[in-house]
Amino acid sequence: MNTTPTAQHLINGEFSGEPAVKRMNPARPGELACLSPAGTTGDVDTAITAAAAAQPRWAAFPLPKRGAILAQAANLLHERRDQIAHDLVCEEGKTLAEALGEVGRATDVMRYFGSLGWAATGEVLPSSLPGTTITTRREALGVVGLITPWNFPIAIPAWKSAPALISGNTVVLKPAELTPLSATHLARALHDAGVPAGVFNVVHGKGRVVGDALARDECIAGLSFTGSTTVGLGLQEILNARRARVQLEMGGKNGVLVLDDAAPDQAAKVVAAGAFGLTGQACTATSRVYVTPAIKQAFLDALVAEARTYAPGDGLEAGTRMGVVVSESQLDQNDAAVRGAVARGATLLHGGTTNGSRFTPAVLTDLDPSDPAVTDEIFGPVVAVLEVGDYESGLAAINASRYGLTAGICTDSLAKATDFAERAQAGVIKVNRPTAGLDLNVPFGGVKDSSTNTFREQGRTAVDFYTWGKTIYTGV
Ligand code: NAD
Repeated sequence: MNTTPTAQHLINGEFSGEPAVKRMNPARPGELACLSPAGTTGDVDTAITAAAAAQPRWAAFPLPKRGAILAQAANLLHERRDQIAHDLVCEEGKTLAEALGEVGRATDVMRYFGSLGWAATGEVLPSSLPGTTITTRREALGVVGLITPWNFPIAIPAWKSAPALISGNTVVLKPAELTPLSATHLARALHDAGVPAGVFNVVHGKGRVVGDALARDECIAGLSFTGSTTVGLGLQEILNARRARVQLEMGGKNGVLVLDDAAPDQAAKVVAAGAFGLTGQACTATSRVYVTPAIKQAFLDALVAEARTYAPGDGLEAGTRMGVVVSESQLDQNDAAVRGAVARGATLLHGGTTNGSRFTPAVLTDLDPSDPAVTDEIFGPVVAVLEVGDYESGLAAINASRYGLTAGICTDSLAKATDFAERAQAGVIKVNRPTAGLDLNVPFGGVKDSSTNTFREQGRTAVDFYTWGKTIYTGV
């Protein structure tokens, strides 16, 4: 009997697809993590047709009923969390604790948006006309496409799907090729919770085939994408050409400013958690740090000591604090970033060594501000530490980036923290907290090349992307 976990499409209420693509466990050479189907443009077409047919009926479902289905999907994700987290570790490489946390996040997201089934929507507004009432309501876009990355393989599909579904849209999801199993678990939970056929569809496959077909289909009224800036900007052109709605959450190069009045050990813990947690494979990861002169040496010593505690290992083994790198190409990217910086004169204070897919967290210093290790996204556990003269030059350095997802400051000064929160160019500001990690009920998104910076994800505001506003005058 074949016990290899197998990802499947979900199209029009049916799980399908020949297991054609192998995904190897990145932590265990030679061990198969799962099999998945290689979707075609025909599969995308069938899924979109089913989603379009199902949409009017789904939008007409009473809101509380839509909410109850999401709440039931949350219950099922919770019941199945151990299996889902195990599979997630095997295909993505993060630690079991991180994977359980992520499955918990997907569960809570479903519960949160399910609860909006009972929330009031729209407003009642006064009219200048006698005997007239004005109300507003929000209408579903129709069929939406979702394209997601591998680094949060169940949480990101969940935090896009849930606001789309509660708003009355039907969905076609294209998950990342490296992590098809986690998205299949989400599909099974929604299917088993009673989502009608055609309402939630998943098509696995290559970005250039399945993702491209999804973006180009005229029936897709809105596309929400999370992934690299290069791919995102290409998709934006496609969607803009036919004036369809598009939401992009893309790359980051998140900076932290450490001031002399911070406690060095505490600042090092904040930076290390942001830089090395999730193996640095988070869009919100800390990757550059600006430090003022008096605290520099104590901070660097403390940061190296912290980095030593993030030894990489198999995420399924008890005690592993940092998982493995997701793929060989990502490993090459981490390695090239570190070697390149060192070749250009940087000092490598710790890490940057590889053993299979295990990459020790790297701490670089003595870099030029224009060094690619300081300016370009690496997406691994690599942090560049640069000295700045004072607060103002540190703030200017934080803002001198094409990206603007998250930014942090470590300081004891309320005045500096307040000023930083106002003037730092990023969608999320963290004071004395790691740049990575966000609650599910708060708006999330970036500015500059990190985001379309129009619609935010997560929290109640997430619904805005998936709906359009209507104003109704009623006279008596
Ligand atoms: P990626 O851009 O390579 O892929 C993302 C998704 O797009 C995948 O599903 C992929 O198959 C698909 N895709 C690729 N080429 C496509 C094309 N031509 N047309 C349509 N779809 C296509 O990104 P990745 O390597 O999976 O993820 C890492 C990137 O994601 C990093 O840049 C990271 O910063 C970013 N990210 C951003 C956020 C955020 O919220 N801002 C969150 C997580 C990850």
